[in-house]
Amino acid sequence: MRTDGTRGERRLQGLGIAPGIAVGRAFVTDSSAIVVPERRLEPAEVDGEEKRLAQAVEVAIKQLRKLKTKAVALPGTAAEEMGYLLDAHLAMLSHSRFVRGVERRIVEDRVNAERAVALEIERMGESFAAMGDAYLAARIEDVRVVGQRLLRNLTKTPYAAFKTLAEGSIVLAEELSPADIALMDPKQVKGFATVLGGAEGHTAIMARALGIPAVLGIADLLKDAAPGDTVVLDGGTGEVVLNPAAATLARFEKRRSAIERAGRGLARLKRLPAETRDGVAITLEANLELPRELGQALSVGAQGLGLVRTEFLYMNRDDLPDEDEQYAAYAGLVRGMDGKPVTLRTLDIGGDKLAAPLAELMEGEGNNPALGMRAIRLSLKERSLLDAQFAAMLRAAAHGPVRILLPMISSVGEVRAAREDLGQVARRLKRRGSRVPDPLPPLGVMIEIPGAALAADALAAVADFFAIGTNDLIQYALAVDRGDERVAYLHNPLHPAVLRLIQFAVEAALRAQIPVSLCGEMAGDPRYTALLLGLGIRELSMAPANVPRVKQRIRALDLAAATQRARAIMDQLDDARIASLLDDFNELA
Ligand code: PEP
Ligand code: MG
Repeated sequence: MRTDGTRGERRLQGLGIAPGIAVGRAFVTDSSAIVVPERRLEPAEVDGEEKRLAQAVEVAIKQLRKLKTKAVALPGTAAEEMGYLLDAHLAMLSHSRFVRGVERRIVEDRVNAERAVALEIERMGESFAAMGDAYLAARIEDVRVVGQRLLRNLTKTPYAAFKTLAEGSIVLAEELSPADIALMDPKQVKGFATVLGGAEGHTAIMARALGIPAVLGIADLLKDAAPGDTVVLDGGTGEVVLNPAAATLARFEKRRSAIERAGRGLARLKRLPAETRDGVAITLEANLELPRELGQALSVGAQGLGLVRTEFLYMNRDDLPDEDEQYAAYAGLVRGMDGKPVTLRTLDIGGDKLAAPLAELMEGEGNNPALGMRAIRLSLKERSLLDAQFAAMLRAAAHGPVRILLPMISSVGEVRAAREDLGQVARRLKRRGSRVPDPLPPLGVMIEIPGAALAADALAAVADFFAIGTNDLIQYALAVDRGDERVAYLHNPLHPAVLRLIQFAVEAALRAQIPVSLCGEMAGDPRYTALLLGLGIRELSMAPANVPRVKQRIRALDLAAATQRARAIMDQLDDARIASLLDDFNELA
């Protein structure tokens, strides 16, 4: 390997999205090589162009089906993740809004198929981006990937041959699709870096699932890189070095050994209990945004699903999911968890979470969507939404333990109304001959509005369990928009107001002897674990990838000492002092 830096060492910085150190030889691929021809059609050409599009779609479907059979052989959770993803891409090729839009452009705008595809990708990208929603932003990537496939088929541009790469390659590309990643054999491809792509996209998800170190979003990656260059990258920090000097290589090598040692330690934790040094068992569960995360939740040893965000069923489509479709999705999760509890949250649409089929209902919600017709408020207003969700959840509960969770609860009246509705739906299902669990699944509430935390005693009397949502609790307590990066520095979990609200809710739950968990992002950060346990929380739910690190923290700490430290922290008024008291404790144990 050339390490003499003949072309000079060049350091680049991107977004580290899949941790690990990779050293190898550059394989440079340029997906921008597709040239999109532009042509206006004569009226007589329209039919022929529609046929060309239909053929390209057909070929794309065949390619995706072939990839699906290939995906089965992928290691670990990657097989399942890839399966879900390819299904999503296949759905996008059959009578979807995207394909319909392309067809319309050929017929109405009379442009050639390639141009129509390119225009439609652009238009959908703009309309998704305008909604300012992270989930939809990730869907733009899907539209682009499917669109690129159609363009390649229409222009007959071949895919880069990732299968035949030399061992020890590092792929450098403008953009890579999850399907491209699926063609990579981790034995051959040591890592990859791209110009485009964000941390929430599927390419990132696939890289993490396959364990291929990766860095995305390096604007000038391809400017100086040449095939065969030596490349070293750190998928954690986002550093990429082209033609590294020997000293740089040695530095990265050292990092790699340290990461490998830590990884071996964390993997060993899977079968060990999440128990503090003084013997108190803590329940660690997974939050699920999309069903394809199920495999990972199981592989990290999650003891249940503490929060299933059901919004995925309502997004990126023009119609609403009916009861049967919802039942199939929920039952899949319940069966997949094989007896471990699954907490299904009713629709939390509104505010920063949007869904096209519900856009009309949300209209007129005023100037402040965070405080408007959203979540449980919308569900109670549009009973058919709630009824379909409850019915699907109750039917799914026939396959294993289910808990039903209500988002954005602010008053006991909402819980009573929802419980009454749940009873009615259960009776209707029984009359229909469906199997319904007796007693009905526990009905819990999210504590994510400051008023709900302060009225936690009252809510504890009508709810079967609490799930504390710190993401919104912080947003509302401190008046900090979760989605506004300009005020992100104020979104502070250690603000005394936030901690007092958490404490208040936990104590109310403990007094009423109902279970209480915490499922905001705070639960997945080991920095806060000792404090949360010290406040009395024994159940935490988080993104699956965070489970091992939090478990490691739990196993290292003494709960009695953490409780004492939490008391000292709760006496403080200054968040800087709170942070230093917590960080000092974390350093010691
Ligand atoms: C929360 O608000 O903390 C929460 C877990 O719910 P979401 O992030 O889905 O709003
Ligand atoms: Mg919330």
